[in-house]
Amino acid sequence: MRVIILGAGFGGLELSTRLSEEFGADADVVLIDKGEGFVFGFSKLDVMFGRTTAEAVHHSYADVVKPGVDFVQAEITAIDPVAKRVETTAGSYEGDILVVALGADLHPDLTPGLVEGGHEFYTVPGAFATADVLAAFEGGRVVVGVCSTPFKCPPAPSETALLVHDFLTERGIRDVSSVDLVMPLPVPIPPSPAASEALLTAFAERGIGWHPGTLIRGLDPERKVAEFADGTEMPYDLFLGVPAHRAPAVVEASGLTDDGWIPVDSLTLETRFPDVYAVGDVTSVGTPKAGVFAEGQASVVADAIIARATGGEAAHYDGTGICYLEFGHDEVAKVEVTFVQGQAPHGTMDDASQANAADKVEFGRTRIARWFGRDWTTV
Ligand SMILES: Cc1cc2nc3c(=O)[nH]c(=O)nc-3n(C[C@H](O)[C@H](O)[C@H](O)COP(=O)(O)OP(=O)(O)OC[C@H]3O[C@@H](n4cnc5c(N)ncnc54)[C@H](O)[C@@H]3O)c2cc1C
Repeated sequence: MRVIILGAGFGGLELSTRLSEEFGADADVVLIDKGEGFVFGFSKLDVMFGRTTAEAVHHSYADVVKPGVDFVQAEITAIDPVAKRVETTAGSYEGDILVVALGADLHPDLTPGLVEGGHEFYTVPGAFATADVLAAFEGGRVVVGVCSTPFKCPPAPSETALLVHDFLTERGIRDVSSVDLVMPLPVPIPPSPAASEALLTAFAERGIGWHPGTLIRGLDPERKVAEFADGTEMPYDLFLGVPAHRAPAVVEASGLTDDGWIPVDSLTLETRFPDVYAVGDVTSVGTPKAGVFAEGQASVVADAIIARATGGEAAHYDGTGICYLEFGHDEVAKVEVTFVQGQAPHGTMDDASQANAADKVEFGRTRIARWFGRDWTTV
């Protein structure tokens, strides 16, 4: 049974690893990605704030050496979900099962003025380039803003505002600076009232301006002003933006999407095409767009494929994930959230601590050990 996995991010790496662990050399998996390697989302913030280097957080796909998994570095140019066949820059591949794990593409160009007058920190090159911008910053008005919904890792803008505060404080320029956070959500983390309250308290204690319920519509680079969707204007010296997200164009062209993303069965991750699954950011499954959810969904698809081969029972997706939340001061909170269709999302929070920071390091270490077969530590 040949399984073609499109995309070697959080979802694709977990799924290929599970299948290799289960079937060994008999796995018959083709894993396709156009990139040279994987970078954790949270590593983008680590590089941006000078805690580590770009080289240290790059995990080369050359290290994905797993029994039964053939990694192909190529761009996918067409997907035929009926034939379960893809065209790539390295030829075509056809499988018995297709799993789309292509994530979300980022489009800074869709926000007027962002490319010319601001810095997006969600792509790998954008975050790494912002490290130099921050290092050269001499103080002033910093605005962290979300330009469009949906966006990955909803806690990341809040984390960024707190880390900007620490960064400016350590450089002795916090008192000549302001930090403001513009978010479309009513509270920082809607499914976890405790986490939202802790963040709002942290913002207040640090003098970070909190502007909920609105988006950044555009920047006016000449006047150095950020324009909110509700008509408010805010002057800035340094704008750090979360750009617009879209499903990759190849996915949109495949007929798999509705309203921009791939609808899937929320329990099995199957698309409306038989034997075609989709996991992670590219779906509209109802969980936030975050790596832990992509990983959990990939694990359910792995169970289904294993059950099909062995005649066992497949598990259903439970919509649960743990998010680590950087609070600054080297402390991290742990938020567990559950998203089940038909129920209000709910979550619990474990307060910011150094113990949770160590937990987050362990989270990264164990993934890299399983996916890439090597030792690694986040910072
Ligand atoms: C600043 C920041 C911080 C974050 N922090 C966290 C965190 O702490 N915890 C957490 O869980 N999540 C975090 N995230 C979110 C997380 O990175 C994503 O949600 C996660 O990577 C999604 O996994 P995925 O498998 O769906 O897609 P991805 O990991 O994005 O993988 C998709 C893959 O598809 C490939 N691809 C796309 N198009 C093509 C094509 N045409 N041909 C070939 N290959 C293609 C890409 O190269 C990519 O490797 C963060 C994100 C950001 C930006």
